[in-house]
Amino acid sequence: MTNLILLGPPGAGKGTQAKRLVDERGMVQLSTGDMLREAMASGSELGQRVKDVMARGELVSDDIVIGLIAEKLEAAAGNGFIFDGFPRTLAQADALADALEAAGTGLDAVIEMRVDDAALARRVTGRYTCGNCGAVYHDETRPTKVAGVCDACGSTDLRRRPDDTEEALRNRLMEYYKKTSPLVGYYYAKGQLSVVDGLAEIDAVSDAIAAVLDKD
Ligand code: AMP
Repeated sequence: MTNLILLGPPGAGKGTQAKRLVDERGMVQLSTGDMLREAMASGSELGQRVKDVMARGELVSDDIVIGLIAEKLEAAAGNGFIFDGFPRTLAQADALADALEAAGTGLDAVIEMRVDDAALARRVTGRYTCGNCGAVYHDETRPTKVAGVCDACGSTDLRRRPDDTEEALRNRLMEYYKKTSPLVGYYYAKGQLSVVDGLAEIDAVSDAIAAVLDKD
């Protein structure tokens, strides 16, 4: 069993790679962004509370996301967890370490997906996903074969995120560099960090991640 953090700015490809690991290795993807979007879609009180903050591209409070992750760690079972978009602050990183220890497990790898900011703007503003199966597409680099229909499951429920705009992306990048990028140094110092080139082809990135996971 392997527990893995995918670290990187918005648009680095964390979600795409996490979905592949779910399919190929039976790992469980824990995306706090997806959980928060589900809370909004269900109209819950939590969803209402985080809606505006998320639309602006700012981070929601540590307490909220730590609570979401704690629930899932208890409930989910699988061949290891992929933390996608969590932790995003040092407080979240500490809380995760505690929660994993309490569950009798630990962190096996942290993979930083490195990309340059110009590429991020292109990736983020062109992307859309299938609301049914979560497949990820892009207007230019990876459009659906038939416009408006998901290649993977045939659903026509293709969605764009309200925070995938240039303005929200500016805030999301600022939040990343201010609050999340210190985690790169933190995990490096703990000897847990590996870096992959997030600008490579999707398959090449998957191969690089597999090499890290299968190292020992
Ligand atoms: P993501 O789908 O990972 O890009 O997350 C979308 C948005 O959800 C972020 O811009 C934040 O507003 C919020 N969010 C997701 N994960 C976290 C987290 N770990 N800490 C704080 N805010 C988060």
